[in-house]
Amino acid sequence: MDTVLSVYNSLNGKKELFKSIIPNNVGMYVCGPTVYSNVHLGNCRTFMSFDLIYRYLQHLGYKVRYVRNITDAGHLENDADEGEDRIAKKARLESIEPMEVVQRYTLDFRDTMAKFNSLPPSIEPTATGHIVEQIELIKSILEKGYAYEINGSVYFDVIKFNKDIPYGKLSGRNIEDLIHNTRSLDGQSDKKNPQDFALWKKAEKVHIMRWPSPWSEGFPGWHLECTAMSSKYLGSQFDIHGGGMDLKFPHHECEIAQAESLNKKAPVNYWIHANMLTLNGKKMAKSTGNNILPNEMFTGENNIFKKSFAPMVIRFFMLQAHYRSIVDLSESALVASEKGFQRLLDGISKLDNLEHSETTSGFDVEGWKNKCYAAMNDDFNSPLLIANLFDAVKYINSIAICTQQISKLDLTKLSDLMHIFFFQILGLKTLKSNDGHNNNNRLNGTLDLLLEIRNKARLSKDFVTSDLIRNSLLNMNVQINDTSEGTTFKLN
Ligand code: AMP
Ligand code: ZN
Repeated sequence: MDTVLSVYNSLNGKKELFKSIIPNNVGMYVCGPTVYSNVHLGNCRTFMSFDLIYRYLQHLGYKVRYVRNITDAGHLENDADEGEDRIAKKARLESIEPMEVVQRYTLDFRDTMAKFNSLPPSIEPTATGHIVEQIELIKSILEKGYAYEINGSVYFDVIKFNKDIPYGKLSGRNIEDLIHNTRSLDGQSDKKNPQDFALWKKAEKVHIMRWPSPWSEGFPGWHLECTAMSSKYLGSQFDIHGGGMDLKFPHHECEIAQAESLNKKAPVNYWIHANMLTLNGKKMAKSTGNNILPNEMFTGENNIFKKSFAPMVIRFFMLQAHYRSIVDLSESALVASEKGFQRLLDGISKLDNLEHSETTSGFDVEGWKNKCYAAMNDDFNSPLLIANLFDAVKYINSIAICTQQISKLDLTKLSDLMHIFFFQILGLKTLKSNDGHNNNNRLNGTLDLLLEIRNKARLSKDFVTSDLIRNSLLNMNVQINDTSEGTTFKLN
């Protein structure tokens, strides 16, 4: 395929011309969520970034095999192989089966991403579904001499690996720095060196997620699942590996080491990392509590924003930033996106009723099309594409008020292209009446009506009715407050 797509490769910090290993085909692996809680909006941003990439590659005509895993075992609380398994901990706290935790949050994840109009991947494999493959990988790494077993656990020997193949290529860390900066383990761990990482961990008695293996009853290390699943479905060398920026180290660095210890060749040609969504200037993260759930944004039931936002407005807001830029979530920026999104939608809807003229157009549609493609071909520059779409809408509005003209041919071309860029490539949709913010408006309207009826009842001293309304709402966790300025309600 003859494309001029250039992609920023995190491996060397350069934009490179994209060339797939097999012509016309792309293998893409993206690290999926750890399903121990509802995905927050930051997680969603990363998956929306890769949805844009997936859509654009397909638009260019590539047959893409997009593998995005579900981490349902092995991801411990701490990246240094310490702490409890995140899913097992949630299961323990809620007294349910770990697989109930996995099921609940996998469904939430899929449901949320569907609301954002993200396409499902071609394959969505799970870590627990690939224990056998992971055990086989460990056996092979042991055979190659890059791992060691101690007390039923198996660790990757980073120091030994680094003697043969440099470790730290992706994150730009060298082994000396790592030795300097990793805290000593104070006899807490069986590892020979603190830089080593677990391939297999022997399960303590209390650990509920466990599988038999040649070394012990235990569970695989987090980094191993992605090597096992990417190589199984995409081969030992594939085109694109993605994830959020925070996964570069240690997760992706360890993946590279595992694969290179076996094959002595780089497993991935293009590493793509999406940047973080921040809230109040700090990374959105589950662990710090600095996060907001998509559903809280759709319904407006949160203490951060005064109004609700529809999934498509949020998607548009995300796409107005380049995937490699940090984005801070703020009410003013979201409101601006809401207006911009509506402006584009209005422009597109006008296209159907525009009159064409017999004369030539005052707008170079072909040149505009080339600018749109140039934006996307420059490392998926969606903000620049959107800026071009706004230019087109400005022109569409001028035609609508007859201050500009367009030929029949150009009108058809512009209309087709606007639809392709807006709906197919950016993955946007029109706002539906059941989108969150509309539901929320309706809910607010209904509550206002109930408060009005209650006030009328109170004025006519019909306290049976007014108390019925107050108590029934309270049962639904809606609290009514009578203040000097009127009656307000709060959702508890
Ligand atoms: P996890 O479920 O923690 O494994 O994370 C799933 C994905 O979300 C990973 O690719 C992370 O890099 C990404 N991620 C986590 N926090 C953020 C954030 N604040 N902004 C963007 N992506 C994030
Ligand atoms: Zn991964």
